[in-house]
Amino acid sequence: MKTKPRLVLLGKQGAGKGTQAKSLARHYEIAHLSTGDLFRAQAAAGTAFGLEAKRYMDDGELVPDTIVMGVVEECLAPGGPLSGGFILDGFPRNKAQAVELERVLDGTPLHAIIHLDVPREVVVERLSERRVCVKNGAHIYSVAKPPKELWVCDECGGAVVQRDDDNPDAINKRLDTYERDTRPIREFYKESGHTVVTVDGVGENDAVFERLTSAINSAVS
Ligand code: AMP
Repeated sequence: MKTKPRLVLLGKQGAGKGTQAKSLARHYEIAHLSTGDLFRAQAAAGTAFGLEAKRYMDDGELVPDTIVMGVVEECLAPGGPLSGGFILDGFPRNKAQAVELERVLDGTPLHAIIHLDVPREVVVERLSERRVCVKNGAHIYSVAKPPKELWVCDECGGAVVQRDDDNPDAINKRLDTYERDTRPIREFYKESGHTVVTVDGVGENDAVFERLTSAINSAVS
């Protein structure tokens, strides 16, 4: 594909956005921007900004928009590191961020908004079983699919642990926040004339990946 896709991947926590966004970024040779991974890396590095974000994350709350935009604005500006195509994972998270994204893109159109659809009961189970690499949050495992050596990341040797916010209280709070703040973004994009596609996210990773690439190829061509 000559055109480098510019994509937004939406979906509940635990829908598989991180895993699929990583594969899609490799497949289309585009950048993968996960705001959650950025915040976790900053928190692990102990920066003031990362520790501030962590207070919200551990409680299952959204990080305030001003902090989020401070992090993503530079990456997204035309000519910035995402100018060769991108997939946004975990951003935008509410309508105000979607409006800000349009402003920062400054007329560069998004090719598609992909909604990775998984029922709530399935994601609750996935999130409580999820384990992630502390060095790179995009290296994702589960109790059912652990790394070869327990619990050491196959890809980079980092420790594989349960995320602080993958506990029952924070999981339910995050999913409620998704329903309230993130779900309405799809309507915003439809009303503003964007291509919004829903892809079934239940099933093996490879099968979901096939569905995603076929939806993206139709949207970009
Ligand atoms: P994620 O890895 O996408 O599930 O994000 C983990 C946590 O990081 C979320 O529960 C929020 O606290 C925070 N976060 C990530 N992305 C955003 C965003 N775009 N806006 C606000 N908070 C975010």
